Amino acid sequence: MSTRIGVIGAGMIGQDHIRRLTAVISGAHVVAIADADASRAIEIAAGIPGCRVVDASELVDDPEVDAVVVTSWGATHAEFVLAAIAAQKPVFCEKPLATTLADCERIIAAETALGRRLVQVGFMRRYDRQFRLLRTAVASGELGVPLLLHCAHRMGSVPAGYTTEQVVNDAIVHEIDTARWILDEEIVGVRVLPTRHNPSAPLSLTDPCLVVLSSESGVSIDVEASAHGAYGYDIRAEVVGQHGTSELVTERGPRIRASGRASRAIAEDWRERFVEAYDTELQEWVDQLGAGSSAHGPNSWDGLAATAVTDAIHRALTSGEEERIALPPRPDLYGALS
Ligand code: NAP
Repeated sequence: MSTRIGVIGAGMIGQDHIRRLTAVISGAHVVAIADADASRAIEIAAGIPGCRVVDASELVDDPEVDAVVVTSWGATHAEFVLAAIAAQKPVFCEKPLATTLADCERIIAAETALGRRLVQVGFMRRYDRQFRLLRTAVASGELGVPLLLHCAHRMGSVPAGYTTEQVVNDAIVHEIDTARWILDEEIVGVRVLPTRHNPSAPLSLTDPCLVVLSSESGVSIDVEASAHGAYGYDIRAEVVGQHGTSELVTERGPRIRASGRASRAIAEDWRERFVEAYDTELQEWVDQLGAGSSAHGPNSWDGLAATAVTDAIHRALTSGEEERIALPPRPDLYGALS
């Protein structure tokens, strides 16, 4: 039986997920859409047979909605996720889980009290084939003990007005989650290193932003986030281990030999780079709903840990010092880290 999904927030990623749920993946269909801009919701719902426009405050409790997708602004996520937990409905929430640690803790407390995991957070890199291969290489033990993780998040270009807060909360947050997931341990410290300013960037933007995270076992994870990467959207990661290294292969398509050089394409933006990962992410979530099991993907604890680290990066940007991260005890409900 197809799962009936209600979507809150029909902006950029919301529309992309609605398209995905409607036309790409199997086992689900969108029955309700809510958006702050009702005319936008009406226009999108009109293209989906049987889909209604509902007020966001009523969507979660709508008896015809089996599960909820939250793709509204980050600051609104906690309210909708808490409502879904109260209604005992599975909820897929785009990152961030919540914009404050206190709200993340409220969500963890509600889920823990219920005794069931209902929340999945949209850290889609865990569904990317290349990232999965990298994690498997580390887990296999072939590299020996992981020592370093080098990451680059080069965005090609960003909209006018893009801020350092967005570099941290929207870009580096993905490296935070993948580092925790690949290394299977928490981040406990954060430093921001000084860099030469990119002349293509406005002075108000920290670009490039160079962050060094430290894991519980002492692995150093350096993250270069460049908002004006210039040549394309390029996500890089390399694990250096005791016996060897493993890295993502990020170039796409066939190798072309022409004009005296051999080359392969680099994605233009994040939608192109991670299109299969987003598809797999929602397909696996829907498959789990269909099977009646709890979501296996990134959970509320992963959302809390990511927010704790982004908060620490903001502190480090101001202090210039290493900022330590003290997480609350992880409830048994969330099991092992990954
Ligand atoms: P967006 O284009 O601004 O879309 C957000 C939508 O939510 C807008 O249509 C907005 O309406 C609506 N909205 C805001 N508050 C609402 C409320 N209380 N009730 C109902 N609708 C509400 O933003 P976006 O780029 O799609 O991002 C949405 C979320 O997805 C963010 O948390 C972002 O971080 C996340 N995201 C994740 C990824 C990823 O790689 N995993 C990629 C992109 C975005 P109005 O504009 O009319 O106010």
